[in-house]
Amino acid sequence: MLAHLECTRCGEHYPADRPQSVCPKDAGVLYARYDLKAIKRTFSSARLLGRTPTMWRYDAVLPDANPVSLGEGFTPMLSSREYPNVYIKDEGLNPTGSFKARGLSAAVTMARHFGLKKLAIPSAGNAASALAAYAATAGLEAHIFMPKDVPAANRVECDYYGARVTLVDGLISDCAKKVADMKMEGFWDKDGWFDVSTTKEPYRVEGKKTMGYEVAEQLGWRMPQGIIYPTGGGVGLLGMWKAFEEMEALGWIGSERPKMVAVQSAGCAPVVKAWDEGKQSCEMWANAATLAAGLRVPKPYGDYLILDILKKSKGTAVSATDQEILEAVRHWSKMEGIFAAPEGAACLVAYRKLIANRFFKPEDTVVLFNTGNGLKYLDVLDASVERTLLSAKPPTAAKPAARQIGGIIGPY
Ligand SMILES: [Zn+2]
Repeated sequence: MLAHLECTRCGEHYPADRPQSVCPKDAGVLYARYDLKAIKRTFSSARLLGRTPTMWRYDAVLPDANPVSLGEGFTPMLSSREYPNVYIKDEGLNPTGSFKARGLSAAVTMARHFGLKKLAIPSAGNAASALAAYAATAGLEAHIFMPKDVPAANRVECDYYGARVTLVDGLISDCAKKVADMKMEGFWDKDGWFDVSTTKEPYRVEGKKTMGYEVAEQLGWRMPQGIIYPTGGGVGLLGMWKAFEEMEALGWIGSERPKMVAVQSAGCAPVVKAWDEGKQSCEMWANAATLAAGLRVPKPYGDYLILDILKKSKGTAVSATDQEILEAVRHWSKMEGIFAAPEGAACLVAYRKLIANRFFKPEDTVVLFNTGNGLKYLDVLDASVERTLLSAKPPTAAKPAARQIGGIIGPY
């Protein structure tokens, strides 16, 4: 039912039966377009009941190819213990511990379908792990370009999955430049290379859009009043908004939409800055620095789409400092039993701010996206634990007396 690809800038159509990157005319992001009228005649939301609990349950609105799957998607929608109308969509339960599994499952599925061999990705961390895992599953080569200071888990995972890893002294934007330079080389097309960068191929958005389908299905086909989403590259925002449009065309939901909220780190907030200034695209953020590695994206490629969605949905953009994020990771752990990625915990910071300034009312149903598992950030989070423990120690604490521990197998 995949009809064609459509440029999000100029509207030009391109065939979907071959690998495509961005619009050759204006470098716009390409979206996969389906024959939704035909799908509406043959498939209804009621037919989802009893289907496989992965994102591939929505295969009626995904490309028709044999999925490369590790069981991604259909993650829990947990009711918050703290706020009665808040849900936490826990993407940390995906394969490789983050929401990146969805996009890369779809992208690698299509890459294998088209006979591509070597997949290159610039990544802030978790996308690299996901590509490495799905490429291993598909029997394809993964070539990873990531900052040398990514969380240790990302480096270790990629190595174990057998990916070729290049550590770059810089940010994801520097990694992206390395991949762009390689594309100019003669071997690129000849050897079956392909660039699976965020929004530079059409199918990662397709994988991520299943989060939108899940939000609707898991809330009984009601739309929440708000969705708060940690925004680095913003693929999930693009994908969910696309999913809502498709679901309306399919008659699964009406015209109502949640307010879409982008959360960024105060140390790298190009979308927040552009939103506050009423701009339609972002400027490159200088000296980006934050412990939330996934938010260290100085300029998202799909910035014009992100800002358009914030506007159309009457949403907003909010930033959170690293200190606020760390406190929120700890708070969610204690309060909800959810050990979140820093990016995900940033949603809690944003929600508190948006309740305080009455952007959301306490009775509004709001979905917060925890995009990853805190276990992937142990090195980052452990540094803060050490600081906390050290600062808690009384300065004059005497050493415990060794003789008082029982003396049965004493060290003396
Ligand atoms: Zn175009």
